[in-house]
Amino acid sequence: MSFRNRLTLFFVLIVIVPMLAVTFLLFRLIDESERGQTAAAIAQQHSTASQLFGEQRRLAAAALAEVAGGSGTPAIEDFRSALQDGRRGRARAQAAAQRIIAGQRELPVSSRRIERIVVVRGREVIVQAGVRTAIAPAIAPVQSRSRRDLGDLALSVTDAPTYAKRVRTLTTESDRTGLHVVVLNGSRILGSTLPTVDIEALEAARNEPLTIDDVDYRVRSFSDAGAFTNQNVRVFTLGSLAGNAGSASDNRTFAAAILLGFLLLALACAMLVSRTLQREIAGFLTAARKLAAGDFSAQVPTTGRDEFAALGEEFNKMSGELERRLAELSQERGRVQSSMRRLGEAVASNLDRDALLELVVRTAVDGVGADAGRACVRVNGSGSLEERSRVGNLNGFETALQSVETEALSSGSARETTHGATTAIAHPLRGADALHEVVGVVSVARNGRFTAGDRELFSYLAGQVARSMENVELHETTARRSVTDELTGLSNRRAFDDALAAEVERAKRFGTDLGLVLIDIDDFKRVNDTYGHPQGDVVLREVARVLRDSSREVDHPARYGGEELAAVLPGTDLEGAFQRAERIREEIAQLRIPRLDGSGSLSVTASCGVAIARGTSADSRGLVQAADSALYVAKRSGKNKSVRAR
Ligand code: GH3
Ligand code: MG
Ligand code: MG
Repeated sequence: MSFRNRLTLFFVLIVIVPMLAVTFLLFRLIDESERGQTAAAIAQQHSTASQLFGEQRRLAAAALAEVAGGSGTPAIEDFRSALQDGRRGRARAQAAAQRIIAGQRELPVSSRRIERIVVVRGREVIVQAGVRTAIAPAIAPVQSRSRRDLGDLALSVTDAPTYAKRVRTLTTESDRTGLHVVVLNGSRILGSTLPTVDIEALEAARNEPLTIDDVDYRVRSFSDAGAFTNQNVRVFTLGSLAGNAGSASDNRTFAAAILLGFLLLALACAMLVSRTLQREIAGFLTAARKLAAGDFSAQVPTTGRDEFAALGEEFNKMSGELERRLAELSQERGRVQSSMRRLGEAVASNLDRDALLELVVRTAVDGVGADAGRACVRVNGSGSLEERSRVGNLNGFETALQSVETEALSSGSARETTHGATTAIAHPLRGADALHEVVGVVSVARNGRFTAGDRELFSYLAGQVARSMENVELHETTARRSVTDELTGLSNRRAFDDALAAEVERAKRFGTDLGLVLIDIDDFKRVNDTYGHPQGDVVLREVARVLRDSSREVDHPARYGGEELAAVLPGTDLEGAFQRAERIREEIAQLRIPRLDGSGSLSVTASCGVAIARGTSADSRGLVQAADSALYVAKRSGKNKSVRAR
């Protein structure tokens, strides 16, 4: 569910639903209040009807007092006199009563018409005039002149239709929905404001509302206890339960308007909050997407002091941290790449010991993030250390390095030393031979401390060096063997040929002389024959030593083959070469070689052939042949001599 949908759901749950409930309750309350008000209004109107009824009776009583007592119109006086005559005046009274009714204009005291006059004695009606629909009479006893009881005089000033109409008018004035009125005498309608009336339904409607023409009415009634004789008058009032429909709907409209107002306000607030939230979240989302795409410049706005601002700050911090870590990583990768390049170069090159040490120190310094490092090895024979490779500037680290190296060498294991702000670690290098002697030490130093990971990596690298050194030694030995004669330690024939060819080329290029001396031991076969082959070997080694010792750095002494030795002498002319040959020959002759059987020593002589190659005409084969020919001449002319080639 999207964030927006969730917000909408929350809004519906916390605003719309409660609002609907409130609306429902409010409308019910309005309804009930309306009903209550309507009922109260109906009761009020009913009492108005009843009061009006009483008023009509009081008016009737006033009129009755006039008719029965005091003065009056001639008709009234006639009526009164006839009445007092008792039985004899009955017919006259009747006539007078009719006259009273008919000649109302003559009525002096009352502004009201007299609607009916009745005189009753016991159950006998003595006088009767006016309309039968008259109601609300006033009744008083009448006496004869002789104070004899003559019966009751009843007089009414209103009839039922007029009363009903007046009630309706009055109640309609006070309230738009006035009362309808139905006046019954027994089951006969005396007056009604309704066009048609179902009397049975009217009488039955005690508690239930009565429906006429789709309008519900509350029916109330009262009986007239003081009605004319033989009358049973009941007044029914019908109040419309629709009440004041106008005011009810006004209330509802008002309530609905307020609720709608609240709803709109809540909606506006919710939309505002939703927009703000969505905008903030959209900001985060955009920044996060940029971050995911590798763009660290994206910053989340952090205005305000709310949680979003705090979250934004954390996010920006995280992005900065990521950027920093990434930079670190790429730096690290650069270091790894250069290490790998170095390793590649090392593999490609013919590794020698120093190159290996250099490689190890550099890799160790890079690998553990050291500021400087070096490798030292023990000088042969003496125990003193000699620095063989160095990476970084050792200034400020020497003390720490020296002390840690000494510790590592004496303990034979890895050591770490802290000196002020600097830390140094050293690892002894062990020889590849069976003794595993400590042959050197590799150390690194830095400002600050090394981690456990650094120490582990350093130990690993140092451990690898020993194995690599073994390989290097093997490699070096193999290489040496391929160019060295085992017996004499001089260059072998192949190396001699290579060296001669190279020197011939050089002599040609620079136009210099190149001397060659071939040396052959005289009567060597006899040495072998006389003292044995091993003794011959000793002689060969001694003669070779003479040759080696007499050689300059640039010369190439070699075992040419068998008991023949040779020396390539760059930059040496014929005379120089001859002098060298003579000196060598003399030194050989002076050798006293101890005999293997222990009985004294023996000495040998040698013959030398000397030749030179000169400048551009130089040619190695010709040079060798010339020297060989000279040697042949030396042998033929008595041996133990040097001969120059011609
Ligand atoms: P010349 O004076 O004419 O040079 O006589 P020579 O006996 O020295 O010469 P020859 O060529 O007849 O003999 C060379 C001998 O050197 C033959 C061989 O047995 C011996 N020889 C060659 N190489 C070695 C070696 O490595 N060790 C020993 N002990 N003898 C060797
Ligand atoms: Mg020989
Ligand atoms: Mg010989």
